[in-house]
Amino acid sequence: MFSVKDIRKDFPVLNRKVNGKPLIYFDNAATSQTPQQVIDVIVDYYSNYNANIHRGVHSLSQEATDAYEQARVKIQKHFNAAKPYEIILTSGTTHSINLVASGFSALLKKDDEVIVSALEHHSNIVPWQMLCERTGAVLKVIPMNDDGELIMSEYEKLLSVNTKLVFVNHISNALGTINPIEDITEKAHMVGAAVLIDGAQACPHIKPDVQALNVDFYVCSAHKICGPTGVGMLYGKEEWLNKLPPYQGGGEMIAEVSFEKTTYADLPHKFEAGTPNICGGIAFGAAIDYMNSIGLETIAAYEKELLVYATNKLLEIDGLKIYGNSENKTSVISFNVGNIHPYDLGTLLDKMAIAVRTGHHCAQPIMDYYKIPGTVRASFMFYNTKEEIDTFITSLKKAVMMLS
Ligand SMILES: *Cc1c(COP(=O)(O)O)cnc(C)c1O
Repeated sequence: MFSVKDIRKDFPVLNRKVNGKPLIYFDNAATSQTPQQVIDVIVDYYSNYNANIHRGVHSLSQEATDAYEQARVKIQKHFNAAKPYEIILTSGTTHSINLVASGFSALLKKDDEVIVSALEHHSNIVPWQMLCERTGAVLKVIPMNDDGELIMSEYEKLLSVNTKLVFVNHISNALGTINPIEDITEKAHMVGAAVLIDGAQACPHIKPDVQALNVDFYVCSAHKICGPTGVGMLYGKEEWLNKLPPYQGGGEMIAEVSFEKTTYADLPHKFEAGTPNICGGIAFGAAIDYMNSIGLETIAAYEKELLVYATNKLLEIDGLKIYGNSENKTSVISFNVGNIHPYDLGTLLDKMAIAVRTGHHCAQPIMDYYKIPGTVRASFMFYNTKEEIDTFITSLKKAVMMLS
C-alpha cells in the first residue's frame, strides 16, 4: 500500500525548514530529492570501496567495477534494452544528447534534414543547431497548439526522404505534455530517419520500454529520479552505437594506441572515455531500485491525483492562467497570475518556504509562443502531499494580494 507519510521518512531534506517554516519542495522537474537509501549507497562507496574501475587487479577496484557494471545491468533491465552495452553511462541528458549530435556530424551532409519539436528543452535544441551549422543540414520544427501539444499533421508534412533524424522529448519539462512518441517514431522510421527521445522528464513518472517504443536513442538524468547529479544515460540501439564515432578521446575508450593509429574499444567503453562518475553510476542503479520499490504505476497514479487536485484549486484564483492543458500531461503546472511577474511570485513564495521554479524553464521557444517572459512552475513528485498543495494555494493567494 502506498503511504506518502512513510515515503516522506525516506527523504531527510523534507524535514528541514526554510525561513522558519517547513520546506515545501515543488521544483521536482528541475531536480528531485534524494532518499536515504541512495544516500547510504553513496556513503558506503566512499567509506568502503572507492577505487578506479576496469583497470585494477586489486580487490577494491574489482568491487567498484562489479558494482558499476551491476548498475548498468539494472539500468538496462529497467529500460528493457536488449544488451547491457547498449547503455552508455554519461554525465546526464545534456551530455548524452551532445554525444549523439557530435556523432551525427560525421554522418550528415548538406541539405539533410533534422526535425525537433517546439516543446524542447534548450539542451535538445542547441546541440542540433550546432550540428546543422557544422554539416549544412537543415533544422525543422514541429509546431505546437495552444494546449501545448505537438501538431502531428504538421509533423507528417515535414517528413521526407531528406529527414535523417527526429528529436523529441518524451514529456515537456515546461508544460508537462506527454508526446505521442510511438507515433512519432513509427512515422520517422517510415522515411528511414533515426529517432532520439529525451526522457529526462518522463523517467520520474513512467517506465519506458525502449524496445517496445522502438526508439533508436533514449536519454535521461539520474538526478530527476531520486539519484545524484552528474550522471545519466544514453541508450542506443547496438547498430547505431556502432555507426557513431567516439565522442571523446582518452583512457578507457581505446583498444590499442600508437602514434600511427588507435583502435577503439568495444561498446560501451568506446563512449566512456576517462574515469567516469563511478559512485554516481552505482547510485543511479540504487535510485532505480528505489523508484521500482514504490512502482512507477503507483507513482503515476498518485501524481495524477496531485495534479488534478492542484489544478482545480489553482483555477479558483482570479486571473490565474495555466499554460499547457493537454489531456496527456504529468504533474507539472506552469502558470501566471494576471500581469504579476513570475519572478516576484517565486520570491515571495520562497519567503513562505515554498520552492517553485520561475522563468523560461530552458524552453524559451515555448514562452515566445505564448508571448510571455516566463511562468511559475510547480512540479510534484510522489513524496508531495495534498496538505502541501493547500498551504501552497493559501500562500500563493497571499503573495498575489501583496503584489496586486
Ligand atoms: C532536465 C532536462 C534536461 C537536462 O538535463 P541535465 O541533467 O541538465 O543534463 C533535458 N531535457 C529535459 C526535458 C529536461 O527536463
